[in-house]
Amino acid sequence: MTVRFAFDNSYARLPSSFYARVSPTPVSAPHLLKLNQELAVQLGLNPVELATQAGVEILAGKRIPEGAEPIATAYAGHQFGQFVPQLGDGRAILLGEIVDQEGVRRDIQLKGSGRTPFSRGGDGRAALGPVLREYIVSEAMAALGIPTTRALAAVMTGDEVIRETYLPGAVLTRVASSHMRIGTFEFFAARGDVDAVRALADHAIARHYPDAAGAARPYLALLESVIARQANLVAQWLLVGFIHGVMNTDNMSIAGETIDYGPCAFLDIYNPNTVFSSIDQLGRYAYANQPAIAQWNLTRLAECLLPLLAGDQDKSVEQAQEALSAFAARFSDAYNSGLRRKLGLLSEREGDLALTHDLLDRMVAGKADFTLTFRRLSEAAIGPEGDVAVRSLFEDPAPYDDWAERWRKRLGQEPQEGSVRRASMQRVNPAVIPRNHRVEAVIEAAVEKQEFGPFEDLLTVLGKPYEVQPGFASYAEPPPRDGRVYKTFCGT
Ligand code: AMP
Ligand code: MG
Ligand code: MG
Repeated sequence: MTVRFAFDNSYARLPSSFYARVSPTPVSAPHLLKLNQELAVQLGLNPVELATQAGVEILAGKRIPEGAEPIATAYAGHQFGQFVPQLGDGRAILLGEIVDQEGVRRDIQLKGSGRTPFSRGGDGRAALGPVLREYIVSEAMAALGIPTTRALAAVMTGDEVIRETYLPGAVLTRVASSHMRIGTFEFFAARGDVDAVRALADHAIARHYPDAAGAARPYLALLESVIARQANLVAQWLLVGFIHGVMNTDNMSIAGETIDYGPCAFLDIYNPNTVFSSIDQLGRYAYANQPAIAQWNLTRLAECLLPLLAGDQDKSVEQAQEALSAFAARFSDAYNSGLRRKLGLLSEREGDLALTHDLLDRMVAGKADFTLTFRRLSEAAIGPEGDVAVRSLFEDPAPYDDWAERWRKRLGQEPQEGSVRRASMQRVNPAVIPRNHRVEAVIEAAVEKQEFGPFEDLLTVLGKPYEVQPGFASYAEPPPRDGRVYKTFCGT
């Protein structure tokens, strides 16, 4: 059976310095673990075809579908603040692009598909654990309504990869609205190749920011648009307790999607200083640092674009600085209005900001679970009977009681009925998130025991994060005290 992809590969039509043409390296025994049927259909693909032997071989990089033009893209990046002039897709290959049912162009990329000219010392492969982690977390983010790359499929390769030990190898098929990163701009800017920076900017505008094309200053409009999308994105991360973990400039998408899930994790207990990643020893990418880091990364993007902005350097710097200064306000707006919605405050009044931030401070002091506090507040919004469940999340509940009294007074100024307010709160406060102990348990079962039932269950639960599905109540629970995960690893 032929497996049809309606490829139209715009990135492969860009200058040859943008990528290396390279095919995936064949694997021994491809085996389909998971196919995202719903996403396949959205992409205009046929899930039945994809699940055939030929389809699975494509998803494993063993067979090249018709119309694909496999490339590894070039990029650079600041990793933990240090500039690396050449990174690039070292273990990922872009098969091509397809225009989905809604007219949106999407990249189809295989991650873990073998070495490329950008692999440096790496093997170009991915282990099963990180593939499952990216599948779970990216799909959870999508279900939460947060811009993200998607997971189309996970396959086992039948080959082992060598990490600290031998591990089963796997390939993730990743779908993104593009894979252009801040680091892609840095790659050409660092080489003084202004023509390439311009060609890349034109491509980004055409693909993601068509309005910028008609603006008086299209490249400034591009910069402003990326800044706005990233400010919104990071605000959404904070509002669900997400920590990306490796916000290097090569892991920040020009399209404004969450990309490159490595040692990412969600907060259990609320503490803004939380860091999970084992490689982030200085806490550069701590939960609460994410907005500042996003702005730092966007400053690197602005530097790349300077030669395209105004005719003279001073004017260009001035324009870039003005664009960058909008980040903070944009982020605060998105974050604070999100917090208001989380607390059921649908109108805006003086003192709201202080009230919401006061709760956060009390949650830190009380070591309260981030997700459950907000979720349970939706019941407390109906009346004080709901307080019991929230109080139990605080080590010392007295500060909550004091806050709840003020909150309820404030709710009295809202026009909605309690049940309407509860429903609106439950639409923004998830009941279930990919808690680290659950993700770890899924990976352990898969890697140690070849059991994939827990993976399927977790995906089912996370597909509807704003409800508690029958039979899955325990997924909303925080980790047991001795089951908390404190560290996450890249484990590529
Ligand atoms: P990441 O940790 O995914 O942000 O990757 C940083 C850089 O290291 C990128 O250029 C990757 O392509 C490269 N890389 C990571 N793991 C591997 C691997 N196993 N083989 C080759 N390159 C890799
Ligand atoms: Mg080339
Ligand atoms: Mg990366």
